[in-house]
Amino acid sequence: MKPSTLLTFLAHLVATEACLTEQERHGGHIIDLKAHLARGTINRRQANLGTVPVAVGDRFQNGTTVPIGIGYNANATFDTILNCEEIKSAVFGLAKQYGKDKFQYFEMPYKTYENRAMYGARVGGSGKKGDKGYKVLLESGIHSRERGGPDHLIYFISDLLRAAKDKKGLVYGGMSYSTAQVQSALSLGIVIIPVVNPDGLAFDQATDSCWRKNRNLDRAIDGEPVSVGVDLNRNFAPVWNFTKAFAPGVDPSSDDPNSEIYHGTGPLSEPETKNVDWTLDQFPDLGWFLDLHSPATLVLYGCCHDSNQAVDRAQNWQNKTFDGKRGVVPDRSGFEYKEFLEQKDWDALTLAAARVAGGMTDSTGRFYRSLQAPHLYPSSGCSADQGLVRAALDPKKKKMYGIGVEFGEWNYQAECLFYPTQEQHRLNMIESSVAFMELLLAAVRLG
Ligand SMILES: [Zn+2]
Repeated sequence: MKPSTLLTFLAHLVATEACLTEQERHGGHIIDLKAHLARGTINRRQANLGTVPVAVGDRFQNGTTVPIGIGYNANATFDTILNCEEIKSAVFGLAKQYGKDKFQYFEMPYKTYENRAMYGARVGGSGKKGDKGYKVLLESGIHSRERGGPDHLIYFISDLLRAAKDKKGLVYGGMSYSTAQVQSALSLGIVIIPVVNPDGLAFDQATDSCWRKNRNLDRAIDGEPVSVGVDLNRNFAPVWNFTKAFAPGVDPSSDDPNSEIYHGTGPLSEPETKNVDWTLDQFPDLGWFLDLHSPATLVLYGCCHDSNQAVDRAQNWQNKTFDGKRGVVPDRSGFEYKEFLEQKDWDALTLAAARVAGGMTDSTGRFYRSLQAPHLYPSSGCSADQGLVRAALDPKKKKMYGIGVEFGEWNYQAECLFYPTQEQHRLNMIESSVAFMELLLAAVRLG
């Protein structure tokens, strides 16, 4: 193999690690945080030169102007990443512009470790408070260093509302949506949570430190800055107790606060994950969920902890018989376990994920693949399975199908691989918007 071919091959192998590097999955870190923080602001920024900078100020002037995305205006530019204040300002602006029938802001009950309020909004749908008529949950910003996620969600929702109001369609690169598709996507009823990890986002933006977790100090160790925080995408309820549920040697999560995948002190121990679960209670009709991550050009579906089958109901996450056997993918002799999914649920997830990946690919020409999540790596306590677990524990609750979209590719020029270049950010914006739209249209079609 030629050296250049080998490099491309290796880069592809690494890129499939998605929102964790191989090193981080096994307890390491991609940057030395102590040294990084000691270097001071200017030197830190130099290490990430060429990435899209975080905005200073508020482009929406405290909610007095609204975002206009690339789907509504192909010439829209995005030279900076939305800062925390701007994301909130955009949400206030949309509420003011479109009124409560179309966009209703809500605050969640649990304050973050740094006492921030988390918020979301219900968009389109029946226009009635809470309860019925909201089918799809769109979420971003659970891993704070995956820059651009909240931007993509905010600008997409702005596009959708504006196009619906003006009775127009939307165009994202090679993908076009008709006026009727815009109207039907919006009338489905959408709930958004633009920033699931606001403390992490504020810290990452202030320090350029490639920060992933939240900022919980409860189990932090003096002098170890990486020991702060919990990986919120390992803190949900599904098979949280990985040491019991998984086969020896599988690392779906970690008990070590120094780890990037530290799962916290119990399922839903963190205010941020409690707030997401609370949101599911407020909107009992939610049947679809998209959690936006980066980067890997992948659309992940199915159960996070193991691959699926639709034959043997006994193989399910609640059955203690299979403790110690989960998470081996592909299965080895003597360790067979595959999580049971009803065939219709599995079909729906597969179809939706394929549709999302196909649309993203067609929008820019960058290839997206749909893949069962554990084939990337098995994980425990993930957000995407929370809706399935809730329905299994309480049959009165509706099943919610979750997919994870890993937009974009790593930026190998930057110290933090997760901070995009200007060119990457623009492509990511187009592809993520298409991901949201395709999931909404899949939900319209599949119910
Ligand atoms: Zn992520």
